[in-house]
Amino acid sequence: MPSELRSPRSDSRRFVSDPSVSELPWATARWCARRGWPVHPLAPGRKTPAGNCENCRNSAHAPADCACLPLGRWCHGFHAATLDQRRIQQWWTQHPDFGVGVACGPAGLVVIDIDAHPAPAPSRDRVLPGIPIADHVDLTGLATGFHSLGVLAALRGHQSPAEDTGTLRVRTPSGGLHVWYRAEDNRRWQCSTGSSTGRALAWQVDVRAHGGYIIAPGTTTHAGTYTAVGETREPAALPLWLAQELERTGHLPAANIPAPRPVPPRAQQAVLAAGGGRARTGNTLTSVLAPVAACGQVSEGAGFSDVLNRAAFTLGGLVAAGRLSREEAERALRETASAARPGQDRRSEQIIASGLAAGLLKPLYAAGGRP
Ligand SMILES: [Zn+2]
Ligand SMILES: [Zn+2]
Repeated sequence: MPSELRSPRSDSRRFVSDPSVSELPWATARWCARRGWPVHPLAPGRKTPAGNCENCRNSAHAPADCACLPLGRWCHGFHAATLDQRRIQQWWTQHPDFGVGVACGPAGLVVIDIDAHPAPAPSRDRVLPGIPIADHVDLTGLATGFHSLGVLAALRGHQSPAEDTGTLRVRTPSGGLHVWYRAEDNRRWQCSTGSSTGRALAWQVDVRAHGGYIIAPGTTTHAGTYTAVGETREPAALPLWLAQELERTGHLPAANIPAPRPVPPRAQQAVLAAGGGRARTGNTLTSVLAPVAACGQVSEGAGFSDVLNRAAFTLGGLVAAGRLSREEAERALRETASAARPGQDRRSEQIIASGLAAGLLKPLYAAGGRP
């Protein structure tokens, strides 16, 4: 591990066994690749990828059709990223001044890139896209991505990723912060920039995932060095609430978003039944909650979070379609979850809240039902 990446405590022992401290970028690239994070060269002193060859500069073609990549050249930025240690050695011994970029998507990383550039505050609807901020809320102090992300986290009852000491965080030369997380499933999280009027998580907060790269800690540009802070050097799993915020703000490709949902047969019966009165509402809940209750028969695993999230999502859809009251949905979810996983109420509560919130945006009408 390069010295820049070492946690202060492990310094003395690891230092001796690692001869690479004088070859920092190469060592950084090797360190990343050993973690399964494909790397590609950055232009010396810059944040941008090393340039394409002349042929790739002059002829328009897709990276997938490029002859350079199979030949081990670094054309097309993160598309050239590799885990191959021989190629890495070749690139960085020939160009020791290359910086190191990590291709986030194939690395299974989602990096929250918080900017601290002084900028005039945006209009209210762009601070947290999709979340209205009332006129009486004073936004005078809002100056950086640390603030907008802090507000989002506070709204959701969580600590800001900027304060997340349990994951790898990297200070940028301009005072920003990269918060590195692992995507735990195979969902293809997408990049965004906070200033975009399309997909964005929060003002002055970018998301680096599929289709993007992140500068590896230890890399030095003309502006300074990207330096890991605190002691944690491993990305933690992407927090559930943050994954839900990313989903809400459109960071999944359309195919991964469960909407517009065909009504699953069981829920469809439930929806039809729900029109039939109080007793039928009970059947609705029972059928949607059955998988949650079933988790109670196994002490661990069983994908409980997913199952509960899905049930909350479905009930949220029913609530939005006016087929069930929100109170009923919440109470039933809470009671079923509590019975299946006693003592995990706090966690269950969070899953229920976000599952419901997501479902509320997707009304679940019966087939042929009213819009
Ligand atoms: Zn080329
Ligand atoms: Zn090319």
